Amino acid sequence: MLTEVQAGPYTVRGISIGGVYTSLQVPELNVVLDAGVPLRSFATTDHIFLSHGHSDHASALGALLGIRGLVGKHSPAQVFLPAEIESAVQEALAALQRLHRSAIELETIPMRHGDTRKVYRDIWVRAFQTHHAGPSLGYQFFRRITKLKPEHQNLPGEEIGRLRREGVPGIFDELERLEVAYATDTLSKVLETAPSILESRVLILECTYLDEKRTVEETQERLHLHLDEIIARAEQFQNEALVLMHFSQLYSPDHVRDLIRERVPPSLHERIRVFAPASNQWFG
Ligand SMILES: [Zn+2]
Ligand SMILES: [Zn+2]
Repeated sequence: MLTEVQAGPYTVRGISIGGVYTSLQVPELNVVLDAGVPLRSFATTDHIFLSHGHSDHASALGALLGIRGLVGKHSPAQVFLPAEIESAVQEALAALQRLHRSAIELETIPMRHGDTRKVYRDIWVRAFQTHHAGPSLGYQFFRRITKLKPEHQNLPGEEIGRLRREGVPGIFDELERLEVAYATDTLSKVLETAPSILESRVLILECTYLDEKRTVEETQERLHLHLDEIIARAEQFQNEALVLMHFSQLYSPDHVRDLIRERVPPSLHERIRVFAPASNQWFG
């Protein structure tokens, strides 16, 4: 079974084991985050975001896209990915198409640090750099909303509706509401280089190692993040929910939960969602 956690108004479901496979879905945003394992119920989601090219995040993309046809999805999926890996992903899929003797439909959307694109309805995404081996990105999903400027607060409701419909300039402020940020396979430095993710309503963040089985230094050599680094910054997280994922299989799921409960200050712990199976068995 898939793991599922509720993070504020969002559901995060899927599978994540550091170095093995990670693929998450946020149904409310209509997005899949990484494709390290092809999950049947993710195949109807139209927007796929790859953080980087490592096998545990990208190697099941072809299989996932292949399932789309089976479930009656004939429009190409949009695959957002670091611009530097676009051609390698297309070559890999071209080889798979020759192997399968069938077409894989997709639209790749190359992204670079700071690029902003519309995803779905009022959902937009901005890419930010993460710090890992090779090109890698995190993704901040946000809603673009309009708010009446304070000087127009007294206008009657009907008039406000008319001005909004007609798009009259100078009446509304355009705001970005940060909803869900995704940062995996990265040094903790990402919390300094993309500090707005600390203010996102939900932050999905990797936490590969949790105790002295790997020191912070060893974790950094592997270009990952250690629980000690999250604890050291506990005061900085403004998020309504912090989803920790990408745990090493050095720990059982119950051990992950115990370490986080024992070690994280209560004010942060109450907002943490541990993305690990309740069954105490890693998937597979
Ligand atoms: Zn990984
Ligand atoms: Zn990686």
